This record gives sequence, structure tokens and C-alpha cells, in this order.
Amino acid sequence: MLYLPCDLCGGTDVRFLLACERLDGPLVRCRQCGLVYVGERREDFTFSRFDPERSRRLAERVRALELVDEEVEAREAPVRERVMAERLQWVQRFIASGRLLELGCAEGTFLKLAARAGFHAHGIEPDPVTSALARQCPDIVVFPGTLADAQYPAASFDVIVLFHVLEHLDSPRRTLHELHRLLRPGGILVIETPNIASLWFYLLGRRWRQFIPDHYYFFSPATLTRLLEESGFRPLALTHPKRIVSLRLLTDRVRRLSPLAGRLLMRAITRMGWEARTLILRPSDVLLASAAKT
Ligand SMILES: [Zn+2]
Repeated sequence: MLYLPCDLCGGTDVRFLLACERLDGPLVRCRQCGLVYVGERREDFTFSRFDPERSRRLAERVRALELVDEEVEAREAPVRERVMAERLQWVQRFIASGRLLELGCAEGTFLKLAARAGFHAHGIEPDPVTSALARQCPDIVVFPGTLADAQYPAASFDVIVLFHVLEHLDSPRRTLHELHRLLRPGGILVIETPNIASLWFYLLGRRWRQFIPDHYYFFSPATLTRLLEESGFRPLALTHPKRIVSLRLLTDRVRRLSPLAGRLLMRAITRMGWEARTLILRPSDVLLASAAKT
């Protein structure tokens, strides 16, 4: 069967890795550069444009796969703010102020923190419901649409950030090319994305938590570094981000692996009243990279 060509090197010599009902198609690996990606798109839930019908189908798929517990997610807001604060600290290691753009800013939680810290905070969000929420905040400027629609002039920004967006894109290479144009010389790019070169993927295989219907690209330190370099960036740092998680969320993720274990654990932590207690983890299956425009 013929798979989609590799977005990183253009190669067509591609090896089948696995099939997983939580992905939109077969997982493949490029034999030339090692990029792992979804080699065929049955639905195509990539973020190339906003299509309400497609969003509805995606939400339906996520519901059918029981990936999200709405009640758990709704209670996670305070922890999410702390996660955003950690991300901001990472950005501030490389740049302290200036014009910042977040691609895929959702309801603007990170941007509000960035604005409070002194950045001129801009965002792009194609989903009309979340972008409308973000646009209610007076301190941030949010464009409701896609990067292609926004049409910013060259060198508009000092720093651009993508937190768990790269793996959703139609073409990471094309997007990074455009982001390179939007950054001023020496400007900073920050990317957080799943790491396929992690023990968790090898241990869990098709049950790995990063396999969800709208993830299409799974980078490793090697393929992410190559993407950055070939898009005109000089890598500055690559790490696994710290992650603050509540026991409630951790239990919910256990539930995805084993519904019975998840239920028992949830009952135990509810009895103890520990749902909101937090732990600091450093999951090796996520990459956080910074690079400078050359
Ligand atoms: Zn390749």
C-alpha cells in the first residue's frame, strides 16, 4: 500500500509500525530520516483549517474512545495554570520581553500569563468558541483563524511558541518555514511535543497515551532537531518538561490504560480526599525545545 510521503525528508520509502484504533490511520516510520507519523488519513483532523463538521466528528471519536472524562478535565483548571507558568519560565530563560505569538492559544491561559510578565502577547486560534473566549481578555490580541489566514508581515515577532501543536499540523515543515519568516533575526522558537523515542512508547506500544485521533506526527530528539535545522533554526536546548499533575488527572490516565485499575484508584483517592493533591513529574515522553532563527 502507498503511504503519504515523509514531511521531513520527502521520502516515500516508509515502513508500517502499528495499527491503533485511537489513531486516524496506520503509524509508519520513514526509512530515510526516521520520522514517525500517521501514514494515511482516514478523517484528517489536522489543524489546517476550522471545519465545524469535522470538529463534531472528532469530538464524537474522542467520546467513543472514552479518552476524556469531562468532570475530571473541568476540575483541572488550577493545575493547568501552574503548567502554563512552568512553560513561561522556560520561555523566559531565552527571552525576557518582546512580541510573543502562540500558535494554537486555545482560551489564552498561557498568553494572559505572558502578558502579565511583560510580553506583548498575540495568539492564533482557529476554533471560534475558544478564540472568542480568549478575545474577551483585554491584555492579549488573538486572531480567530489559521496561520495562513493571519497574514502577518515578515519579522513580526521576537518569540513564537507551540505547546502540543506541532503533532496536530498538516505539515510541520511548511508551518516552521512560515514561522521562520514571522520571526525577527535571532528570534526564539519554543516547541513542546510528544517524544516517540521514549521508553513509554516501547513499553506501551499502541496503548501509549500520545496516540489520539488528532495526533499525526511523533518526533524524536533527532527528527525534531533535523526539522529545526532544515527550517533555518539553531537548536539552543532540548529537554523533557516538568509536569505538575493532580492525583485526579493521573488516575484518569491510568483509567485509559486499564478502566478497572483507574476506577479502583479513583475510589481510593476520593475516599482519602486527595483528588486535588499534586505531584511534579518529568515524563520522558514529551520534548521541549528552544531554537533561534539563524
Ligand atoms: Zn523522512
